[in-house]
Amino acid sequence: RPIWEGGRYNGDETSRFDALRLAMDLGANHIDIELKAAHEFYSYLNGERPGRCKIIVSSHNYDCTPEVEELGNLVARIQAAGADIVKFATTALNITDVARVFQISVHCQIPIIALVMGERGLISRLLCPKFGGYLTFGTLEAGKVSAPGQPTIDELLNLYNFRLINTDTKIYGIIGKPVSQSKSPKLFNRAFKEDGYNGAYVHLLVDDVPQFFKTYASPDFAGFSCTMPHKEAALSCCDDVDPIAKSIGAVNCVIRGANDGKLYGYNTDYIGAICAIENAFKVFGVAGSSRSPLSGKLFVVIGAGGAGRALAYGAKAKGARVVIANRTLDRGRELAGIVGGEAISLAELGSYRAESGMILANTTSIGMAPRVEESPVPKEVLKYYEVVFDAVYSPRMTRLLREAEECGAKIVTGLDMLIGQAYEQYERFTGLPAPKQLFQEIM
Ligand code: NAP
Repeated sequence: RPIWEGGRYNGDETSRFDALRLAMDLGANHIDIELKAAHEFYSYLNGERPGRCKIIVSSHNYDCTPEVEELGNLVARIQAAGADIVKFATTALNITDVARVFQISVHCQIPIIALVMGERGLISRLLCPKFGGYLTFGTLEAGKVSAPGQPTIDELLNLYNFRLINTDTKIYGIIGKPVSQSKSPKLFNRAFKEDGYNGAYVHLLVDDVPQFFKTYASPDFAGFSCTMPHKEAALSCCDDVDPIAKSIGAVNCVIRGANDGKLYGYNTDYIGAICAIENAFKVFGVAGSSRSPLSGKLFVVIGAGGAGRALAYGAKAKGARVVIANRTLDRGRELAGIVGGEAISLAELGSYRAESGMILANTTSIGMAPRVEESPVPKEVLKYYEVVFDAVYSPRMTRLLREAEECGAKIVTGLDMLIGQAYEQYERFTGLPAPKQLFQEIM
């Protein structure tokens, strides 16, 4: 690719054309020539088209993704230049830019490669088989890209099931910022594949949640998981919210109604985390009756964000006495008020020892990679807790959990919560029972 089109080639055009012509003579399936050089190249070929080589005529925009009308004009110019295959690559400033590119590719009359560069453009590379795209680009090794945002071939084939995507595929994805670290695509896509369910689950790097839902409003976009920092904003975009999610004030699962197109919001974090904590008591033989093992216990929640609310509400619903310890005390007080509990500061938590046998749940990102040496609580007070849960799942064994175990507490990992909340989401997305064994194995 010449420097004038964003590439690295600095030589003369005749040598470049000779090389492309040689590729055609040697049986290349495709060659790619820039729109700016297409006229000159076709003159150079002088009407000769050796072999069955298809000519891709391409245009690259490293600044933005123009409006639909401008993109349409670009496609017409590429087509008029003699392209067998139209190609344009633009740059995503926002994930909603990709919708315009899908709009163009799905209506194009000749084969088209329409891609949006950058992380916000990733879905253009993953979902092009659904929207009429001719091909996508994958790298052989992670990071060795020829344009920003390219996934590896291994990710395309084995993480995103690229070969299984077709025009009927329902799209699901995780909305977050950042989001590339999420393991959810791995879980859901493996399960879709094993169940023979025609769905594709992708990473969705979203800046503006209402704008996202407004832009991707077709039934093709069937369901979403929501992660930091979008769980509260997602709730406000839903037409109908499950009563529990409404009380928590956050949704982590949004389904588009198949019949009415409305957005329905749920909170499966609550179920995932509380079930995992209850299971810890059951596994260790502490409780066995129909009454929740959390009933009557003092349950300390660190954090008052989406996960904090889910844990606090869930603990309260199981009959626990709830204490909220949050960095922003006012936010902690507000949540404590909702669940009828007490609020303390993070500093107070360091010497909090109201009774023995308490339950501790960290719902902040303290201890998350790369800052794995951090812990929200000094080790000396951990002996007052019977069960310690950490919502952080990367790393699986956080410093908090390691020290809690050393102090004799039973531990519940963020991975246990992640798997539990994913079971619920899978069933809501597909109407099929979650493949629990598979989820456990993958995680
Ligand atoms: P969120 O809504 O943004 O809330 C974050 C909470 O953490 C807030 O209460 C915030 O306090 C507190 N916080 C953040 N950084 C802090 C710091 N450096 N020191 C003290 N407090 C801090 O986020 P979220 O959705 O609840 O998620 C929180 C964590 O839970 C993340 O690590 C996420 O990965 C994890 N999570 C795990 C699962 C799972 O399935 N395992 C599910 C959901 C979430 P302020 O109020 O003072 O800002």
